[in-house]
Amino acid sequence: MRFNLLEIVRQGLSGNAGWQPHWRAPDPKPEYDVVIVGGGGHGLATAYYLAKEHGITNVAVLEKGYLGGGNVGRNTTIVRANYGLPGNSEFYSHSLKLWEGLEQDLNYNAMMSQRGVYNLYHSDGQRDAYARRGNQMISQGDDAQLLDRAAVRRHLPCLDHDNARFPVLGALYHPRGGTARHDAVAWGFARGADQRGVDLIQNCEVTGIDIDGGRVRGVQTSRGAIRARKVALVTAGRSSQTAAMAGLRLPIESHVLQAFVTEGLKPLIDSVVTFGMGHFYISQSDKGGLVFGGDLDFYASYAARGNLPMAEHVMEAGMALMPMIGQAKVLRSWGGIMDMTPDGSPIIDKTDIGGLYLDCGWCYGGFKAVPGSGFSLAHLIATDTHHAPAARFRLDRFATGALIDEEATGSQHNLH
Ligand SMILES: Cc1cc2nc3c(=O)[nH]c(=O)nc-3n(C[C@H](O)[C@H](O)[C@H](O)COP(=O)(O)OP(=O)(O)OC[C@H]3O[C@@H](n4cnc5c(N)ncnc54)[C@H](O)[C@@H]3O)c2cc1C
Repeated sequence: MRFNLLEIVRQGLSGNAGWQPHWRAPDPKPEYDVVIVGGGGHGLATAYYLAKEHGITNVAVLEKGYLGGGNVGRNTTIVRANYGLPGNSEFYSHSLKLWEGLEQDLNYNAMMSQRGVYNLYHSDGQRDAYARRGNQMISQGDDAQLLDRAAVRRHLPCLDHDNARFPVLGALYHPRGGTARHDAVAWGFARGADQRGVDLIQNCEVTGIDIDGGRVRGVQTSRGAIRARKVALVTAGRSSQTAAMAGLRLPIESHVLQAFVTEGLKPLIDSVVTFGMGHFYISQSDKGGLVFGGDLDFYASYAARGNLPMAEHVMEAGMALMPMIGQAKVLRSWGGIMDMTPDGSPIIDKTDIGGLYLDCGWCYGGFKAVPGSGFSLAHLIATDTHHAPAARFRLDRFATGALIDEEATGSQHNLH
């Protein structure tokens, strides 16, 4: 079934009784060409592009919970391509281009909204750094504008521009950045993969990886053994654990990141705003809730919930940037497990075990990477060669020192 205006009218007139489930619920087959471990955004996108771009459809996505129940459904939905370093810049640039055509491609409303991203600056030094980054973005083919104080004041009247400690002096503006509806992205990729023949298997936890003669042979799961010629581990915050099943020790620490949403308000912020000096960022959902967050909780954990000190820190930063936020009631907060690498950049690579692939280390920026990562990993699995925009996301860079340290904070997982 394709979604279009005619179909909506037809279903509306017939009591909405004819809608079909978005995907099947198949039992696992004994063998697949490719098994993808993890039914988050990256796993589902990989399955979709394997089928669509490479015609590889004898594929299973194994998800221990429900599809989209991990970080792809827990993030703050920001999509952008405002990176500066070679490696990141071409990858996120490619990913944003995929986002721009995604809804037509998937025939699914992912509520992609290119509402613009403002990175505020508060000192001359920060302005110069943003000017440099903006130039890097433009030379990469992306869009960037350096705005002065008056322009930001005009666009964002709800901020306290004269904060004594961090006066808003301007912003790096990225018009093509914005937000997308996170659940819908997972559902759209899942539906697209299912329509092309991929088996999406929920409540199926991978508990072991079968390796023989230096090659992967399949996986052990809570629903029995499944043989596979190729296996991709795409398990985000759980990557260290799934890689350990293959005897690999990854350079990843798992940390908690929290987010918050207020009651629905009238339109207030029609863009995404980041306040780096205060470690705070904010946007407004289509339902009206202010969606915001800040830093990691700063210690390694597998708990998908956060603690009060960081909640307090985020609220303080929010009050410093826009004191009016103090009048809004916070409805919910939640946490997700982030797969943090030492340089803050991801890994899309083969391993030394034949047929075993890794896609992880997305830290807290992996939502915007979903289409790009799926596209590049599918390319790697299908051709055994790196897709050019993701060619620097190699695992061995942590041994060779060819790091992609966007924030220049050094090899410390929780500072990226
Ligand atoms: C609060 C918060 C805010 C964020 N904000 C942003 C943002 O604004 N923009 C942005 O770009 N990124 C953001 N992120 C980061 C982004 O959400 C993640 O980097 C990205 O979603 C991770 O990839 P994924 O979608 O594949 O992960 P997940 O959805 O977590 O998928 C991994 C899946 O693997 C499954 N799995 C794990 N182990 C096994 C196993 N043994 N067997 C089977 N399945 C298994 C899990 O159940 C899970 O469903 C944010 C994250 C959080 C938590």
